[in-house]
Amino acid sequence: MNIILFGPPGAGKGTQSKYLANKLNSFQISTGDMLRDEINKNSEIGRAIVNNMDAGKFVNDDIINKLIENLISDPQNKNKLIFDGYPRSLSQAKNLEVLLKNTNQEIDLILFLKVDKETIIRRLEKRKILENRSDDKFDTVVRRYETYMKTTQPVLDFYSENPNFKEIDGSLEIDEITRKIDTFINV
Ligand code: AMP
Repeated sequence: MNIILFGPPGAGKGTQSKYLANKLNSFQISTGDMLRDEINKNSEIGRAIVNNMDAGKFVNDDIINKLIENLISDPQNKNKLIFDGYPRSLSQAKNLEVLLKNTNQEIDLILFLKVDKETIIRRLEKRKILENRSDDKFDTVVRRYETYMKTTQPVLDFYSENPNFKEIDGSLEIDEITRKIDTFINV
């Protein structure tokens, strides 16, 4: 199964993606993790994106599309893709359609973890203490939430017509969300 997880930063996409990757023996594609990796390696991409990332802004679509291209077309990952944090803009969603079509794949399930701003702020304040992520500062958290909702809304509209689009209350506890997700995957 190929699955997309949507949800603002702090909605629990990462946790549920890891769960799904494990359960379905699939491959988690977290663009956020990949970008943080580039920054840690101080690569050319890392140096180009560090300021935007730290400010809670989106990274340029071309950089993101390039990063994931090889993963999608790798035969080992075929129909085993769990997208965590991608696509986040209409241009990325359209790019994904093309990449999947070229490799004879489709999206089987689209999950939207819906959470309000107050819940996100509470959760990310906690994560800041636990993981010390530089983009988890209060102002940045709010900006990331707002950027996400603004830029991702057209993507949600794009997918919401799809019969495989499922909205889940992301303010629930982790295992309650997992239980709901389980009802959508037929294994
Ligand atoms: P995340 O770990 O998914 O919350 O992503 C952390 C940060 O990485 C975001 O605030 C963006 O700056 C950047 N980022 C991650 N995925 C994308 C994407 N698909 N498009 C643009 N920027 C992204």
